[in-house]
Amino acid sequence: MRVLVTGGAGFIGSHLCDRFLQDGHRVVAIDNLITGSQDNIAHLAGNRSFEFVYHDVSNFIHISGPIDAVLHFASPASPIDYLKYPIQTLKVGALGTHNALGLARAKGARFLLASTSEVYGDPLVHPQSEDYAGNVDPVGPRGVYDEAKRYAEALVMAYHRQHKMDTRIVRIFNTYGPRMRLDDGRVVPNFIGQAVRGEALTVYGDGMQTRCFQYVDDLVEATMRLLRSDLVEPVNIGTTREVNILEFAETVNRISANPGGIAFVPELRIDGDPQTRKPDTSRAHRELGWRPQVELEDGLALTIAHFRQVMAATP
Ligand code: UDP
Repeated sequence: MRVLVTGGAGFIGSHLCDRFLQDGHRVVAIDNLITGSQDNIAHLAGNRSFEFVYHDVSNFIHISGPIDAVLHFASPASPIDYLKYPIQTLKVGALGTHNALGLARAKGARFLLASTSEVYGDPLVHPQSEDYAGNVDPVGPRGVYDEAKRYAEALVMAYHRQHKMDTRIVRIFNTYGPRMRLDDGRVVPNFIGQAVRGEALTVYGDGMQTRCFQYVDDLVEATMRLLRSDLVEPVNIGTTREVNILEFAETVNRISANPGGIAFVPELRIDGDPQTRKPDTSRAHRELGWRPQVELEDGLALTIAHFRQVMAATP
């Protein structure tokens, strides 16, 4: 196959590029590098099966030659990034998804949308299954991301129903691993950066809010299975091991042997920060035969080792 990955220089996009190349496919990665980085794909320079196109997919996308699958992963995805780029976030979810779908249609390609657990907002149902319609505040600080992704899902389903396109939607829950940006503001790079520097980990609010953290390789495997499947309905991908942020901080401190402890900074918690989040992954298990394989402690150890290297190389 020749596949197109939008956001191919991003955290998840670049891991997907690696996986497709390893599996013997050809990859075109598109990115405008506002939150992605060329560092994430530097190791692919010179690989003849890999092409990088510097482009903002919110504008018309020109790609010559055949494309068999389009995976639309371009978007700011961390709360501080989408607060910094609110209009670009809305545009890439709306116009970017439209352009990527249009390209897939023109090429007769299969289309896969990277959606998010944020479509459930601050959920009133726990755990969240795919048929839960969510609790999103359109005008809250997270509205730019949540509504963009909800619109993107609606657009994908419209192309599927009206144009009979072959489409997939993955709702990605918290994912971590090497190549997250150290300054992207999310809890994993924040905590690991602080731990490696020997500082206190900044817990926002009272730390009782929960998340489930999955290692990026598990997400990539699920995405490959979804692309090959015939599952058109959205599918949750994430772990079901729920931890509160305080416990998570303690785990990071333990694994990294950080003496810095924990600092509560309640005022840094952004309004609308979901209090709980946990996927019901029975659809993924039933339809894709998928379950996450990497334990939190193992994934964190790999990620901490990666960040230690990056930070040692950065003056
Ligand atoms: N958080 C925290 N300390 C940090 C960064 C984040 O306590 O230094 C909290 C944040 O308030 C949220 C959770 O960790 O409740 C996960 O935040 P993240 O930004 O990683 O993504 P989210 O899951 O909210 O989209």
